[in-house]
Amino acid sequence: MKAAPFDYVLAQDLDQALGLIDENGADAKLIAGGQSLVPMMAMRLARPQLLVDINRLAELKQIHFTPEHISIGAGVRQRDVEFNAQIHQSVPLLKHALSWVGHIQTRNRGTIGGSLAYADPSAELPLSALLLNAKIILKSKTHPEREVLAEDFFLGPMFTAIADDECLSAIEWPIWSGERLGVAFEETAIRKGDFAMASAACQIQLDASGLIQRVSFGLGGVDGTPRVFPHLATRMVGQKFSDLHMEDIAQEAISECDPGSDMHASSAYRKHLAKALLCRVTQAAIQSALAPSASTAH
Ligand SMILES: Cc1cc2nc3c(=O)[nH]c(=O)nc-3n(C[C@H](O)[C@H](O)[C@H](O)COP(=O)(O)OP(=O)(O)OC[C@H]3O[C@@H](n4cnc5c(N)ncnc54)[C@H](O)[C@@H]3O)c2cc1C
Repeated sequence: MKAAPFDYVLAQDLDQALGLIDENGADAKLIAGGQSLVPMMAMRLARPQLLVDINRLAELKQIHFTPEHISIGAGVRQRDVEFNAQIHQSVPLLKHALSWVGHIQTRNRGTIGGSLAYADPSAELPLSALLLNAKIILKSKTHPEREVLAEDFFLGPMFTAIADDECLSAIEWPIWSGERLGVAFEETAIRKGDFAMASAACQIQLDASGLIQRVSFGLGGVDGTPRVFPHLATRMVGQKFSDLHMEDIAQEAISECDPGSDMHASSAYRKHLAKALLCRVTQAAIQSALAPSASTAH
């Protein structure tokens, strides 16, 4: 099928883009990498009357480092984040997550902001943003800049806190500074590059005696949004991983999720997968934290 007719403007700066979405409301859509929007338009699941192209906007391509976080512009390509050594050093979860996102070709075009704005419940970047509780910066023509934490950003499948007149401009990814940091991301899909039937991620930090100092873990593809479990993670703090019954913790996590059934997997199978993946990523994250070369974020 072909997309329904639409008008197109290549925005020259962010002010112009914000003005156009302010004037046209829900009839306009921003287009970034086009890796999700163009297929949706081709299937006529999206029928914007106006496409506002934000690909050339330098304002959305900035990367800034502070001791506490990395701010990555919404328009930065996924592949540029995947291969940025300084980002990998400071927020290693991103590279782990990105290696599962689609294909090299889609990551060459797809943007960090586009993936968060699209908010597919099984997408890897939304899960990573939630796991780290990243701060999402939204701009509009008429209101002051708005900051929304990831925990308040994902509202449902393909549904976020972005208003029709807002553009996601940057994401601040918290840095867990210090040593003995371990991360892991795993998923199961029908074919490599497909959206995950279920995915799991974990970031963990150990103290000098090997006790868990800080941990966050989550699941994708098992509910209307990605899910994290801070109440379960808190219970793990101060403990030795080998003393924990990770299967029981994973069971508790999946009992809080409500995955749908589709042609790829039943709800019960998704839960089964998610539980196994969660046990696997926590174990893998611990191993990477204990490895002599364990990440040290700066
Ligand atoms: C074959 C294939 C496989 C894929 N597999 C995966 C996968 O495994 N995991 C995964 O996560 N993704 C996957 N994708 C999707 C891909 O990662 C997209 O890059 C991503 O979902 C959207 O990013 P984009 O920059 O292409 O956004 P676009 O497609 O341009 O836009 C997506 C939506 O976000 C909105 N939007 C974009 N930028 C902004 C902004 N700055 N502010 C506000 N709204 C904005 C648009 O209006 C649109 O509604 C796949 C895509 C393809 C084609």
